[in-house]
Amino acid sequence: MPSAPASCADAHSWFDVREVGQDIHMINEPGHAACYLIIGTRAALLFDSGLGIASISAVVRMLTNLPLLVVSSHHHIDHRGGNADLAAHIAVRDFCAHPAAADGGSGCAHDEADREFLRAYARAMTGVVAEFGRFAELDARYFFTLARVAHPRPLPDLTGWAVGVTPVTRTLADGEIIDLGGRHLEVLHTPGHAPDALCLFERRSGTLLSGDTVLSAAHWLHGPGADPAGFAASTRRLVNLPITRILAAHNIVCELPGHAAGEVARAAAALLEGTTTVTSGYDMLGHPVTRHECGPVTLLTPPSI
Ligand SMILES: [Zn+2]
Ligand SMILES: [Zn+2]
Repeated sequence: MPSAPASCADAHSWFDVREVGQDIHMINEPGHAACYLIIGTRAALLFDSGLGIASISAVVRMLTNLPLLVVSSHHHIDHRGGNADLAAHIAVRDFCAHPAAADGGSGCAHDEADREFLRAYARAMTGVVAEFGRFAELDARYFFTLARVAHPRPLPDLTGWAVGVTPVTRTLADGEIIDLGGRHLEVLHTPGHAPDALCLFERRSGTLLSGDTVLSAAHWLHGPGADPAGFAASTRRLVNLPITRILAAHNIVCELPGHAAGEVARAAAALLEGTTTVTSGYDMLGHPVTRHECGPVTLLTPPSI
């Protein structure tokens, strides 16, 4: 097995782990990224591995000893940062992703993270965690919306933080069914946020694992490879599925009702039609964006759109 990467935080204090469905565990880095472990009778599947700041393999091994598939919702580092730790500690059966991630097409390779990006992320999130303190104080005084959610984790010393190369060993075709024994997950290619974006759908329970395609808040359509028209087509496709619940990868609220997919699809259609409410703003990392509001949904595009 490859050597283990540095761990910057203790897994028990970094992750918030809870069962969010029958044998579906949310392994959350609160305020950062949420991963999901789905356990069948013969195998388990981890959908995303987070930032790689603490050892996610330690959490996975507390929950299951079954053979493990790791599926990346897309190549962004906050979704595959723990792959190296998993490769070092668990005999992962396969690291699975969209074909573009395996051949490096469309800039989707699972390559080493740029150190400057990691530093920028750490700086930005340190600011967000500090702002959250003020938000939580007001909430505890007046609004009481945060009582049941995990608060964003303060960032530890990230001097040793790195996200290295962990090769993709299996590509997933659109429509492919992953059989974990007693439960089946359908692979959906959903380009838009990123060219290699995947969702997984469990038809029996109506559960959609949405990655960054359906979120409770701002959807990023301004990064390299993002495609608003593709996003509209992908989310329109989700509306035709019998989704009752969505498990998303970001924000304080990661569990969404099934109709959230329809709200995002409507917003994406409105964006193409030019009927969203448009303002200028910045994303969390300080990049300028155009903000498109439609109902409860926010979409971010490059400033020129
Ligand atoms: Zn992403
Ligand atoms: Zn993300």
